[in-house]
Amino acid sequence: MTRETPANRRVLVAKPRGYCAGVDRAVEAVEKALERYGAPIYVRKQIVHNTHVVKTLEERGAVFVEETDEVPEGSIVVFSAHGVSPAVHEQAAGRNLRTIDATCPLVTKVHNEAKRFAAKDYDILLIGHEGHEEVEGTAGEAPAHVKLVDGLDAVADVEVRDPRRVVWLSQTTLSVDETTETVTRLRERFPNLIDPPSDDICYATQNRQVAVKEIAAEAELVIVVGSTNSSNSKRLVEVALDAGADASYLVDDASHIQDSWLEGVTTVGVTSGASVPESLVDGVLAYLAARGFGDVREVESVQESVRFALPHELRRELRAPAR
Ligand code: SF4
Repeated sequence: MTRETPANRRVLVAKPRGYCAGVDRAVEAVEKALERYGAPIYVRKQIVHNTHVVKTLEERGAVFVEETDEVPEGSIVVFSAHGVSPAVHEQAAGRNLRTIDATCPLVTKVHNEAKRFAAKDYDILLIGHEGHEEVEGTAGEAPAHVKLVDGLDAVADVEVRDPRRVVWLSQTTLSVDETTETVTRLRERFPNLIDPPSDDICYATQNRQVAVKEIAAEAELVIVVGSTNSSNSKRLVEVALDAGADASYLVDDASHIQDSWLEGVTTVGVTSGASVPESLVDGVLAYLAARGFGDVREVESVQESVRFALPHELRRELRAPAR
């Protein structure tokens, strides 16, 4: 076997990658709350699924808790981008907490769909991962109507009350291809299955999957920067492998890369999940450059320009004179 010379080595960087509009908004909401009210600002769950982002906000005075009963009465609590169920809002109100809801508007859209179909007494087949915060929040909007479908294998076990009144919804960060397959199987069982009014898998998840497919077709190795609890980042690894990469790994940052992954590799693809700051991608590119992968080309598949306004509670407060 011939060994590739460093001169052949190159890096293809997917675009779009990294922060989506919902993550940007959620992180900025915590930063602005810290500026406006001072530390501590409590945050229920990880504001976004990235350990570096969480650590940086902790250093600035954010306190991350699992549930609102850990927050002192009367304090300020931020709800994460993944959304919460109505029960969590009630618990917060019961403890007299001031809430800033940083739920991504695209998650809220799915919540509203769930409420609307539940009001019409449909069974809602929610495709998503059991235990994921977003799924818990969406299911909590209509617990009597939602049935979780966690992947293809779960389709056979789904039971509904009336097969003529069934709709599917999904988590926002799933694999587009796998979800399409799951829906096809569901429709084989329930031919009258209704589609959501618009895509539940969000633009950012879809765009990052399109972009990684493009670089994976030319790369032997694809490095995805993202944390292991980030659903959309994990999907990028799967999509890269399906699209032709020989290997793909999820890393929190450059320190998790192993030199052995680069043996015999000419082209490395790099991308990052929707909750990943660009500085972590820069670290990976520096690591690769130090090993002969200095030829870096960005491959843009889709242009993104989506932005979301800050949560309304915060906007209102920021407009008011400082106390
Ligand atoms: S990944 Fe999609 S749904 Fe999740 S925060 Fe980003 S834009 Fe919103």
